[in-house]
Amino acid sequence: MRNPIIGGNWKMNKGIPSEAAEMLKELIPLVKKIRYVDIVIAPPFTAISSVIQTVEKTNIMVGAQNMYYEEKGAFTGEVSAIFLKALGCKYVILGHSERRDIFNENDDLINKKLKKALNSDLIPIVCIGEHLEERETGKTKEIIENQFNRTFKDLKSKEISKTIIAYEPIWAIGTGKTATPEQAEEIHIFIRELIESSYGKITAEKVRIQYGGSIKSNNAKEIFEKENIDGGLVGGSSLQSKSFYEIIIAAEEAFEE
Ligand code: PEP
Repeated sequence: MRNPIIGGNWKMNKGIPSEAAEMLKELIPLVKKIRYVDIVIAPPFTAISSVIQTVEKTNIMVGAQNMYYEEKGAFTGEVSAIFLKALGCKYVILGHSERRDIFNENDDLINKKLKKALNSDLIPIVCIGEHLEERETGKTKEIIENQFNRTFKDLKSKEISKTIIAYEPIWAIGTGKTATPEQAEEIHIFIRELIESSYGKITAEKVRIQYGGSIKSNNAKEIFEKENIDGGLVGGSSLQSKSFYEIIIAAEEAFEE
């Protein structure tokens, strides 16, 4: 049984430590009784310390939104896995479409970051997904397969089992256009088949695959009810405690049913 994981990707929001702590102080009592859902908040780097202090001894875990694959040195503006571990981060988001499209990250770079994250005992949340024109021209599966092969290149079975994959159709991110549960499930099944063909059925059944793209309180449950969707990566709706809590509850209920 794969328990769901709900990640809150705050992007470049709530980077002021006091603002981040304020939201979490509202969220902590709301999620106290959550039993099955892994809850992860990924704030900007500047708020990570404050968030880690605020969520200490709660069921909320912390991730970063990015990292570089080198450990230290002349890489101005970058942050390494060692630094994140030292702060107390457990997770790191890699290859988000905003990193790929705005900052020109490609699959090879993400593959290096992924291997470093795994070697450093960080749990990677790796995003893959197609652009609108790729979907409209029937190329979704081809794009996903290419991203999968390059991004997860040379990963061992033990490593892919630890990795969380976020299927995020780029046309659904921040646009208010959610993939239908059927569209999302179709690609989640496809990703699981890709894992199975490289690593076998047992491993494929273990890997958690989240959906991301305009998840809201009113569409979360029907998405999470799909068998191959193991929670979600949430942007906009993770910024307010109430909407984020409602999405977490939807995942908890979908898992319990
Ligand atoms: C994201 O940033 O990963 C995301 C899915 O954003 P949103 O929920 O705002 O579409």
